[in-house]
Amino acid sequence: MKHILDTPVEYLKGVGPARAEILRKEVNISTFGDLLLYYPFRYVDRSRFFTIAEIDSDAAWIQLKGRVTGQQLFGKGHGARIVYTFKDGSGETELVWFQGLKWVREKVVVGKEYVIFGKPNLFNGKYNFTHPDIESAEEAQADQNEPLQPYYSTTEKMKSRGFTPKGIMRVMRTLISQVHKSIPETLSPAVLQLAHLMPRAEALVKIHFPDSPANLAKAQERIKFDELFFIQLQLLRLKYVRLDKVKGKVFSNIGQYLNSFYHRNLPFELTAAQKRVVREIRVDVGSGKQMNRLLQGDVGSGKTLVALMAMLIALDNQCQACLMAPTEILANQHYKTISRFLSGLPVEVALLTGSTKKAVRNDLHTKLQSGKLQILIGTHALIEDQVKFHNLGLVVIDEQHRFGVAQRARLWEKSETPPHVLVMTATPIPRTLAMTLYGDLDVSVIDELPPGRKPVKTYHFYEKDRLKVFRFMKEQIAQGRQIYVVYPLINESDKLELQDLMDGLDTVSRYFPVPEYQISIVHGQLKAAEKESEMKRFLEKQTQIMVATTVIEVGVDVPNASVMVIENSERFGLSQLHQLRGRVGRGADQSHCILMSSYKLTSDGRKRLETMVRTTDGFEIAEVDLHLRGPGDLQGTQQSGLVGLKLASLVKDEKLLKIAREFAHRTLTDDPRLEKPENQPMVVYLQRSEFDWGKIS
Ligand code: ADP
Ligand code: MG
Repeated sequence: MKHILDTPVEYLKGVGPARAEILRKEVNISTFGDLLLYYPFRYVDRSRFFTIAEIDSDAAWIQLKGRVTGQQLFGKGHGARIVYTFKDGSGETELVWFQGLKWVREKVVVGKEYVIFGKPNLFNGKYNFTHPDIESAEEAQADQNEPLQPYYSTTEKMKSRGFTPKGIMRVMRTLISQVHKSIPETLSPAVLQLAHLMPRAEALVKIHFPDSPANLAKAQERIKFDELFFIQLQLLRLKYVRLDKVKGKVFSNIGQYLNSFYHRNLPFELTAAQKRVVREIRVDVGSGKQMNRLLQGDVGSGKTLVALMAMLIALDNQCQACLMAPTEILANQHYKTISRFLSGLPVEVALLTGSTKKAVRNDLHTKLQSGKLQILIGTHALIEDQVKFHNLGLVVIDEQHRFGVAQRARLWEKSETPPHVLVMTATPIPRTLAMTLYGDLDVSVIDELPPGRKPVKTYHFYEKDRLKVFRFMKEQIAQGRQIYVVYPLINESDKLELQDLMDGLDTVSRYFPVPEYQISIVHGQLKAAEKESEMKRFLEKQTQIMVATTVIEVGVDVPNASVMVIENSERFGLSQLHQLRGRVGRGADQSHCILMSSYKLTSDGRKRLETMVRTTDGFEIAEVDLHLRGPGDLQGTQQSGLVGLKLASLVKDEKLLKIAREFAHRTLTDDPRLEKPENQPMVVYLQRSEFDWGKIS
């Protein structure tokens, strides 16, 4: 039987098919249940009327009652605006509309009495109201005027069909009177009681129509809890099922491969953090369960080495390993690094990318199937259908958020007992987000840089300092250093941005002329081979300066490059700036990062640059990023349940998130398969849930 909350919204009294269509198109509401979850975005005090004479600041939203006494239309078409004079006996103000003039003119009649609600603006020494809510005095009378009236966001289209904030409130009242007895509880009695939560039905009524500030807070807490709890419950459940059902290959040997690498080839001492993580990995792969581990570590913290050691453990247990990188350049670099690390050891390593020749490719396939080839490094060419491993034991994925979840899943299908998976990311993720995005993975953190690294010194300069910057670059080059000059290129086909780069290249070439100076140039519109050869020239010190777009963002390792100049730095996001800066500071020399910006900075832009100058700690930067942008824009969130968060915030509700996770944990420890009768409401909710859980796992 269908639940009442699944009823199409057109059947709600006062809505009907045409207005239902508006709701669907404008705010994606199709059913009673959807509408119920359309929460107010603020609460307003409609119990009090102000007078025009009382207005003395533009701080608050206020309500006035008065008469419209005049109307004037200015301009035409898109630039048109309509201005009404509004008087209440104490004074006179103006009501202004720029949009939706058609319905405003139908609604507002000169001479009639109205109630308006809005925020006064100070304009030319007088207060006016732009786009206030407006109702005839009789209409306004029909509602109780509460101190905590819900206020819903709306659009001009919705307003023109009566879905003003108040109009929505009326529809909501009708809805709630019809459904309040049928709103199912979603939590078990135990969780409800132990977490001291308001019942869901009560919370959904009071979030729309609160009877006191205290109850409103309780209602909000309950709804946020649900949002966070069910993400955690689902993630942890996937994890338990996996641990329970999916067997992992047992790597019990530490043998010849790892030992001889460790004793003969390792050129330096591991950091304490690297040792700890290798230990964590060893425990995982020896446990008989499949490892799914996220390895977080700032740029330059030595993740590649840890990955290599994990791969050697696989080899010691007669398994193969592969490492997947997001770009060809990176795959190449990994291949070289790893071959160098392994030189002299009897390990077969190969590289497979989109540009691997067919003959070589066929040969690789044969060697992989026979097991002769032990470590395969490459791009997503690795997961093509023809690639069959003899016995794949470990998959390492570098910079994972560039890989789709589906691509990851295909790797799993490659052997009967799934390989262990190690996901490496250099984009630090704030804890709350990590808990939510990767809640089903175990997390290791390398929180220490190899010794002797000097933190990169960072400066913010404007165009007027250009010559100073160039002089500094010359000094550094004279000392044998190399330099990156980076331009933003967010959209590879954007001609303007490419023009910026070309103009920049011009300036740089004039100040750094051949033959004394050589310049590499790399951007997204070059062919792979051209890019490769430009990079190579830089890597081999044939060029001192590399002018590039953000294609160098990820993973390139040129320890002698110790200066990075980032042009138009205000146009980069924080995590991107941090990634870029990670390209320098990889050698023993003091490195420098120069952020060039225009004079015009938004407050967020300024905050980003200040943060970069202040700190090199990736986790701190990630926290600032989360605060500035909110989680919606952070990488990876699109494929998570986060889009389902309506009230809860990963910035403000960290405490509640921890509590929710703890309760999800307890629930599953007690009833791993959620079979107990008291947990059925949760199961039902998960099944009904609007989130597309498939995308998270
Ligand atoms: P990540 O991938 O985490 O950004 P890499 O693995 O590329 O970092 O390591 C950065 C550099 O540091 C490499 O040149 C690597 O050889 C070196 N490195 C790694 N571990 C250590 C260590 N324990 N001591 C000294 N140098 C190290
Ligand atoms: Mg790396």
